[in-house]
Amino acid sequence: MSRNNVKDLPTRPMTRRQFVQSATISAVLAAPMLRTRRAVADELPRLSEDDPTARALNYVHDAGSVDAAVRASDRYCNNCALFAGKADDDWAGCSIFPGKSVAGRGWCSVWAPKQPS
Ligand code: SF4
Repeated sequence: MSRNNVKDLPTRPMTRRQFVQSATISAVLAAPMLRTRRAVADELPRLSEDDPTARALNYVHDAGSVDAAVRASDRYCNNCALFAGKADDDWAGCSIFPGKSVAGRGWCSVWAPKQPS
């Protein structure tokens, strides 16, 4: 029988010490990945209002600068379904503008409501 066969491995229950070591190692390994994910979002270059797609979709960093006849006053990037960040993030990704971040208090004409979870 092969030395690498799983059936040949001893089947002993994990000791409490082994469990704690395993959990600690998992937590230590996971923490940088979480920080990296957040850092990637923070490091996205900011979308320029002069970007051709941004202009076509009327994107602005300051939603308050948009005429009230065009934009409902409660619509911001940070409450749009396409905003990748949290409601209190100043900047985050947007699936309409891949590789760029948009302002949380920004807006564009693609704004879509978040679906209730
Ligand atoms: S799609 Fe939504 S999150 Fe993206 S720029 Fe437009 S309003 Fe902002």
